[in-house]
Amino acid sequence: MEQKLTIYNTLTRRKEEFVPLNPPYAGMYVCGPTVYGDAHLGHARPAITFDLLFRYLKHIGYKVRYVRNITDVGHLENDADEGEDKIAKKARLEQLEPMEVVQFYLNRYHKAMESLNVLPPSIEPHASGHIIEQIEYIKKILDHGYAYVSEGSVYFDVAKYNKDHHYGKLSGRNIDELLATTRELDGQSEKHNSFDFALWKKAAPEHIMRWPSPWSDGFPGWHLECSTMSTKYLGETFDIHGGGMDLLFPHHECEIAQSVAAQGHETVHYWMHNNMITINGQKMGKSLGNFITLDQFFTGNHPLLTQAYAPMTIRFFILQAQYRSTLDFSNEALQAAEKAWQRLSEGWNNLSRIVPAAETTVDVKELRAKCYEAMNDDLNTPIVISHLFDGVRAINTVLAGHATISEADLCELKETFSTFMFDILGLRLDAAEAGGAALEPFEKAVDLLLEVRREAKSRKDWATSDLIRDRLSAIGFEIKDTKEGTEWKIK
Ligand code: ZN
Repeated sequence: MEQKLTIYNTLTRRKEEFVPLNPPYAGMYVCGPTVYGDAHLGHARPAITFDLLFRYLKHIGYKVRYVRNITDVGHLENDADEGEDKIAKKARLEQLEPMEVVQFYLNRYHKAMESLNVLPPSIEPHASGHIIEQIEYIKKILDHGYAYVSEGSVYFDVAKYNKDHHYGKLSGRNIDELLATTRELDGQSEKHNSFDFALWKKAAPEHIMRWPSPWSDGFPGWHLECSTMSTKYLGETFDIHGGGMDLLFPHHECEIAQSVAAQGHETVHYWMHNNMITINGQKMGKSLGNFITLDQFFTGNHPLLTQAYAPMTIRFFILQAQYRSTLDFSNEALQAAEKAWQRLSEGWNNLSRIVPAAETTVDVKELRAKCYEAMNDDLNTPIVISHLFDGVRAINTVLAGHATISEADLCELKETFSTFMFDILGLRLDAAEAGGAALEPFEKAVDLLLEVRREAKSRKDWATSDLIRDRLSAIGFEIKDTKEGTEWKIK
């Protein structure tokens, strides 16, 4: 590989050069959504962060297998293995089959991701499609003595595990202290210790989503699906595991414990976590009333929003921060992102207006190298964007006639913009987002047809003239002949 990518490894707490286990292949697993509601801004950040990584790894020459799971069973309302299954609850409230809930929100999730230009992963496995594998995984953990059966459920024995290994190594939590100060449960709970987590839960009689197992009719614990499916599709050791920082504890800590307990060794080489998005300085939460779905952003239909925001504005806003830094949403910040994205799009559109000269008198030489350098430094997208803006300034200087650029340098500049803006950052020019600039060729084509029609009319070729008007009208254009000429609009 020509480019040397370094990424921050949450496990070792330092930046490390990315060296895959089996080059040119690279495997990445990212925790996907629990599909019981519409995707919100908090879903957009990990999706875009790991889409960026997926795109970049492919761009620099790796063959990437990107697995992003769909949680459709086992994610209970609270982390202490209590409460109703989130999907079963939604199904009960809406009188639907749980899988209807899953399909409905999964379709909507895919649509939102498509709007954000997030590429589909290579494999999108569902937890409910891997019950057999999860049961086998639990058997291994039981065989190795790190789990116990209690009242038909199976729990992971955190204290036992922590004697032999280190529970808390990823999150940096000191479990010894916590274990020492935690009161032993008084026998009212099935768990030996409140830190223990469910690998298998016996289903209550009213629970719809249930499968047979050696221990009870029930369902798998939430943390288990990721250990099982990542191993199934990427192997017993693989390169990258990603997710939001909110999943670091307990979810990812539990994944490590499960893998070590089942296989005797860790699975993941690089743990990567994106930081959270706050809204006006506050954590997002349904109870705080600041929970804005992506669709609400796209339509502007939420009391906290002063306008609608195009999907590319959201994507650009997220990329304007390095993925490990916090990002605060406000209307002002999004409006600034909207303007900046517009300026960058205009810069790109202006590139095609430049007439090359014999010499280059503007500084564009190192632009591509600088963009790579920033990407290689733990995907530092704000720096990449600032370099692209240096390019925009150079383009404007040339267009204003204050400098010139040679054909070769212009070509190089176009390629750098196209590579970084579109292929790597995954931005996309839609008509509205390019400030109308992308509409130009389309408008010109309609104008051209109307010009041909005018000419036909002047030759008294009514057949051609009517044909053009009728066909345009059938496609959905409204054509109006006035004294000044012909006007058109989309019906
Ligand atoms: Zn997960």
